[in-house]
Amino acid sequence: MSLAFILVVFSVLQAAEYRDGELFIEVLLCSGQKISIAAASGNAEVCFSEVDLPITRILQTPLNVSLDNPATLLNWGYLERVEPWHEDSDGHLRESFQWQDSALMIHRENLVFASQSFADKASAIAWTKANGKSEKQITALPMQSPTVCVSDRSGNKTYLETPLHFTSAQDLQLAGVKLGFSGEFILKIVGSNLVVTHFLPLDEYVAGVVPNEIGAGAPLEALKAQAVAARTHAVGLLLNNRHKNDGYDLCNTTHCQVYKGKYQQNATVRDAVFSTQNQILILPNRIADTTYHSACGGKTDSSGNIWGGETLPHLVGVECFADAASLDFKKESDVRTWISDFALYQGGASWENSALSWNTQISSQQLAKNLGLSKLDHLVINRRGNSGRIIDITFYGNKTVRLNSEYKIRQAFGNTKSSFFYIKGSYVEDDQGRVVIYPGGTLSLYGRGSGHGVGMCQIGALRMAREGRGHHEILTHYYPGTQIWENWMEYGTR
Ligand SMILES: [Zn+2]
Ligand SMILES: [Zn+2]
Repeated sequence: MSLAFILVVFSVLQAAEYRDGELFIEVLLCSGQKISIAAASGNAEVCFSEVDLPITRILQTPLNVSLDNPATLLNWGYLERVEPWHEDSDGHLRESFQWQDSALMIHRENLVFASQSFADKASAIAWTKANGKSEKQITALPMQSPTVCVSDRSGNKTYLETPLHFTSAQDLQLAGVKLGFSGEFILKIVGSNLVVTHFLPLDEYVAGVVPNEIGAGAPLEALKAQAVAARTHAVGLLLNNRHKNDGYDLCNTTHCQVYKGKYQQNATVRDAVFSTQNQILILPNRIADTTYHSACGGKTDSSGNIWGGETLPHLVGVECFADAASLDFKKESDVRTWISDFALYQGGASWENSALSWNTQISSQQLAKNLGLSKLDHLVINRRGNSGRIIDITFYGNKTVRLNSEYKIRQAFGNTKSSFFYIKGSYVEDDQGRVVIYPGGTLSLYGRGSGHGVGMCQIGALRMAREGRGHHEILTHYYPGTQIWENWMEYGTR
């Protein structure tokens, strides 16, 4: 058993802050045992500076960063108490976000650990037992100040203490990912991994998200609507504090939002983001949930229908196409009329048209297999949402399988674009309006829309923008009852 009695100096875990009137956040770029830093083209100068020392080093790419001596890392500690953070706190800063009086506050706490720390959890547990302390207070130490080794092309090694800031005016490729990032970065150790984050203003982050969500070629007002939705979503994610213990504020994947830096950013994207700077959508006492999807196919759905629970007041579902107003998509006959008889707007890009109207086939055998059935006899559509999406369906075969998740229904039918479809052929409606279908060997599905159908319909936003509507009108159409709010940055840190 190895007990280590070494005093560890803790540093800032997270560095979100209000600086010059902007909220700066840390967005994960990569993590691993070793991280390569290369210039996107040619060579780049990277300027490194240790947080606690006023020394900077300028190194030329390509560079490789690795942990100096991973075996000596002390990753486990005993949390003695959590107290308010003061400027002269010498413990461990942990940040979280809170919504207070229609403003985003950065809440800072000081985590005070016992001076002992441990290389493995078993040693930490043994120590708590020997000292009559609770195991529950053992926690992974997200960051210490171990040294990393930065080696250049010639094999010259520079040893630097983490957390480490580095900057580059040129685009860098990190960990071999073919995307370029410039500006300010933070390199830190979380657990036993190196983590590199992009430290940047929220709006620069939003500009790196918008093109992945709606396409950089979208009209300005649609891009502006998407920018406000993505910014609101980002602030909502910060308030969830889901990466509170990971050493960054947001990750760069679909778990949060896909962030690709300057990739596909253009002048229109930047205009959309910076002309709506700070704009988010709120409801009384809370930030709006600005979920969105590719194409509703006629009407959007309610959050309750699609995800269960109580429907949020601004996500009740709205009409997207005026022609759909007179139809009731909870009824099979109206769904069939809409999908087979109404031509939808065909003025958009090909991806828009294929999201609006589609058809596909699946064999009865494959459908049965997807459901874990050896044989499918018939199926019953119990309920559709107001967008026409099937949200409750029962399959009868050698056993009975009932699905009441729009997502699982799409999966079962072979990963369809949406669950707003009908199955070609005859059907019978029972006295409670349930639709009974005995499928043949192959089911032909005719559908509309792509995605879950809740919140803003991106193709609808594109259409509204092309018709000359502004981003405010687009947003309040899809998120009724919300208002645009710009004064949520109170520069509050407590
Ligand atoms: Zn995430
Ligand atoms: Zn729509």
